[in-house]
Amino acid sequence: MGDTIFGKIIKREIPADIVYEDDEVLAFRDLNPQAPVHVLFIPKRAIATLNDATPDDAALLGKMLLAAANYAKQQGFAEDGYRTVVNCNTHGGQTVYHLHVHLLAGRRMTWPPG
Ligand code: ADP
Repeated sequence: MGDTIFGKIIKREIPADIVYEDDEVLAFRDLNPQAPVHVLFIPKRAIATLNDATPDDAALLGKMLLAAANYAKQQGFAEDGYRTVVNCNTHGGQTVYHLHVHLLAGRRMTWPPG
């Protein structure tokens, strides 16, 4: 499951505010939220970055996005809208090397991102 902080969350070695879980995906609130809603969707099978995903991971990547969209619908902010983000490596601003989809909502986002 990887040796990152997210691997430790999956193994319940450190606490997290978990909002969704299935057999392949875990979602929890970001510790340093950048919007009123900021949830991270991660695969339980560790993939370091989007660069490391293979065709075998296609369904898993789709499940992460669908889990984010379903969460938005359940929580009632899907219609107002939200943003999903995957940061990759240094220029993408990635700091935790366990692939994750940021789900940001609850305010109007700006474009382009910083
Ligand atoms: P960045 O730190 O630039 O957002 P990432 O895309 O790698 O880069 O995102 C990592 C995210 O993980 C950050 O938003 C950070 O606040 C969050 N984070 C780090 N540690 C924890 C933790 N223990 N629990 C919840 N979220 C965490």
